[in-house]
Amino acid sequence: MLDFHIHLARLPHPKQLTQLLYSGDFDFIAIACEPWEWESTANLKKDFSTENKPFKTSYGIHPMIATQVSDADFEQLRSYLETDGVASVGECGLDKRYPGYGENGVQEAVFKRQIELAKELGRDLQIHCVGDYGRVVALLKAAKFSEVAGVSSSAKPVPRPVFHRFGGDAGIVRAALPMGAIFSLHADSFKKKSTLAAIPLIPAESVRFETDADETTFAGNATAENSVEQTVQTLKERWLAAKSLWENLRV
Ligand SMILES: [Zn+2]
Repeated sequence: MLDFHIHLARLPHPKQLTQLLYSGDFDFIAIACEPWEWESTANLKKDFSTENKPFKTSYGIHPMIATQVSDADFEQLRSYLETDGVASVGECGLDKRYPGYGENGVQEAVFKRQIELAKELGRDLQIHCVGDYGRVVALLKAAKFSEVAGVSSSAKPVPRPVFHRFGGDAGIVRAALPMGAIFSLHADSFKKKSTLAAIPLIPAESVRFETDADETTFAGNATAENSVEQTVQTLKERWLAAKSLWENLRV
């Protein structure tokens, strides 16, 4: 089990939880999408990463805080990414529920800077989109992210766009596959008709599964808040739910 998108530092008892995950068969990419989370996630990596099971991270700026970030935050982001040479960039993208969403708005500017960072450093880009997927694809194309992704150089890993908690339609799948896109599926990816029709068009090697677990996942659940064993159980159930929805769609 590889959870392609989890906010580990936001979950109850993150240290004990990470320790327990490290002793089991549940692997993950720990996503950190605002400054305090960068630090907590980097500390978890420092404490738990091993040669056998390298701790995988992603550092970025979520569109929910796009209007609040400064150049200093970008400097700090770059330094986290340079320190952790295999970290992905993101999650970043567009979200219509937050300020700065409009065309040519702040969310776009903050997203574009992270597209450029991923290109420059040769890292995968974890993309969040609640709203216009077409605009996300257009921004990737305008930045020639697809051209970088299409060229395989032995010196640098090929950066891929990762559509986290994918909710786009068939047109988006067709437009993004030539960019080497990865589609990370969450149980919620199977709710919309247009996404249900799009998922079978994605080749199996481009599909991943995620829990997208964060502080809201266990809010008010006293058992989970008190027991890391229960949290691990819930994470596994969530991940398997996404996978089995995908398998059912294929038969
Ligand atoms: Zn997330």
